[in-house]
Amino acid sequence: MVPSKFNIIIPSEAGDLQYTLYNTFSDSQARIGSDVLALLESGDKIEAKKNKNILAKYGDDLSELGFLVKSKRDEDKTVKDWFYQKQKDRDELLITVIPTYDCNLRCVYCFQSDLDHSQKSANISKETILRLAEWAGERMDSTHPKRLLLLLYGGEPLLRKRDILVLSALISDEARKRAVEMEIKIITNGTLLDPDFVNSLLPFGIKSVKVTIDGTRDHHDQLRIRQKGRKTFDLIINNLLKTKDKLRFTVGSNYNLENFESIPSLFDYLIEIGLRDSISNVNFRPIFQGGGGYSCDICSFSESHPSVQFWLSKEAQKRGLDSMDLLSLGPCGFHKRDAYTIDPAGKIYKCEGLVGIPGAEIGDLNTRDIEEKSSNFIDRFNWSGKCGECKYLPICGGGCRYWAYVKTGDYFGVACEQKYFDSAVKEIIPERQGFKA
Ligand code: SF4
Ligand code: SF4
Repeated sequence: MVPSKFNIIIPSEAGDLQYTLYNTFSDSQARIGSDVLALLESGDKIEAKKNKNILAKYGDDLSELGFLVKSKRDEDKTVKDWFYQKQKDRDELLITVIPTYDCNLRCVYCFQSDLDHSQKSANISKETILRLAEWAGERMDSTHPKRLLLLLYGGEPLLRKRDILVLSALISDEARKRAVEMEIKIITNGTLLDPDFVNSLLPFGIKSVKVTIDGTRDHHDQLRIRQKGRKTFDLIINNLLKTKDKLRFTVGSNYNLENFESIPSLFDYLIEIGLRDSISNVNFRPIFQGGGGYSCDICSFSESHPSVQFWLSKEAQKRGLDSMDLLSLGPCGFHKRDAYTIDPAGKIYKCEGLVGIPGAEIGDLNTRDIEEKSSNFIDRFNWSGKCGECKYLPICGGGCRYWAYVKTGDYFGVACEQKYFDSAVKEIIPERQGFKA
């Protein structure tokens, strides 16, 4: 028996059980005293004879909860198998499409403002739409998913409503022929969301959209503005009210030290105007300095303030709103073999964070061995490096490729999240329910 390398020990309360023990792989937690702590810290190999009494008392529970494992090698293999299993899961085919890089807003922190002008004005063509629908059919024939998720992203995707309708109809047709259930989600700034458009997409499986609202009206209107500085808060709220009976919303808020305290008031306002039942969850992300704003929902937290994240999460819960689990971040969509992001020109990337990074594409809509290229790309994960040895690997998944590129210039580099996790586990774990003492 050896202690799991994914054990985290957090000093908690005075008394007999003064430590909280958490395991990032099994997601188990327990309160322990100094006797168990000494056992877990007694070295890489636990001597059965010397620890006979304490093992007799706690050994089975500690093994069952994943705090003690057979051997280091055995645990490494189990984690790799779990990771590979997640990569290979073929139930869902995820196709993210960027119909345009253009946007009708000029949010002050937008990372896409880093793209050059030719990229920004690129829109998807009719030829690419036709080929993309065919390609989606070919992917379904090859991977036999139960479910196809079509995620529309941008730029602002709703600048291309006509293209979205044509693409959704064509892909829906391909899915129907193969009895694959299809769902559409849109990530939008919300300014162009309207009931007619939503009605047209209902037959193809639209169920939800994600919109961004950065705090209360005053705060939001300083950050998320139109090209000529016009405000957007009221417009977005009206559009949500007009479509609330047809859709579920995820409301994302970007925060900095100026606006974060206003976010709970935003929750109150959304509830007051009758949107609570239409909101499936809320999430919040820091506005990064020097690297941009959005890549995907989980991405990086390394520059965030765990106590702010945690506070916002509790404020949401108090109001009956679900928020993301701050310790269930990875492995992210990048690691999934059947996840692809298609840019307006038909280039294919592993995830939306890598779009536009020179050389990060894995092919285009005519690349024959795209599955192999996808697998080769994600297989470059370095198990023998820093991440392979890290106690946070099961919840971090090695970090975001986009942020690795921003921070190291190499999208296979490491943009380490350890600082965030060190603080986050201390805040979150002792507050979670279900301790085993
Ligand atoms: S690599 Fe980054 S942007 Fe891409 S799916 Fe993962 S967290 Fe998101
Ligand atoms: S990026 Fe950092 S925190 Fe994440 S698995 Fe790698 S070493 Fe651990």
